[in-house]
Amino acid sequence: MGQLDTLMDKNRAWAAGIKEQNPEFFSKLSDQQAPEYLWIGCADSRVPANQIVDLMPGELFVHRNVANVVVHTDFNCLSVLQFAVDVLKVKHVLVVGHYGCGGVKAALYNEGFGLIANWLRHVQDVRDKYQDVLAGVAGEQDRVDRLCELNVVEQVTHVCQNNIVQEAWRRGQALTVHGFVYDLRDGLLRDMGLHIGSDDEKDVIKQSSIKELVSRPVRSGRQRQ
Ligand code: ZN
Repeated sequence: MGQLDTLMDKNRAWAAGIKEQNPEFFSKLSDQQAPEYLWIGCADSRVPANQIVDLMPGELFVHRNVANVVVHTDFNCLSVLQFAVDVLKVKHVLVVGHYGCGGVKAALYNEGFGLIANWLRHVQDVRDKYQDVLAGVAGEQDRVDRLCELNVVEQVTHVCQNNIVQEAWRRGQALTVHGFVYDLRDGLLRDMGLHIGSDDEKDVIKQSSIKELVSRPVRSGRQRQ
């Protein structure tokens, strides 16, 4: 195994540590999972979903891709969403961006190349939609981070527009879609003011979130007490 010995050793130590605290943990978890949350986040190695919100295996259903994008025809993401909503009956969908996102930066400055340029085109749609907002932000880093925030708002909207979520709301299922941005520099989530629990709320909350977002400094989203 050579180079992977470290990982195998770490895995054994991790499993032993959990079993020491709770001998039944793995046997119970192997029977079923019942997470209340779906996390849609960036694939960036610095944004590990479970660790950020301190949840154990079984407590968080996760989908990650470059720049946390929700595309209406991405059957990978939509299959995760469908399973989470229709089968697991999660109560919350969290769209989580992060400041300093390499995918968002590449999209903003046309740095994507090859295959990934096509994927980042979705983030460029967000960039182009809010070009007036972004033009008013001074400094390269701040502009990237503002687009990280706007991208979360747009991807939250995509989740809400999807027929899986729409149908869940129509049949009265409790489901709220949230938008957060994670700050690599302090390990904290910033609340983008998006907590949408019905189709009626989605447009109003989106507009108020955008209005609030452009009126405050970059990276200053609400931190819950
Ligand atoms: Zn990223």
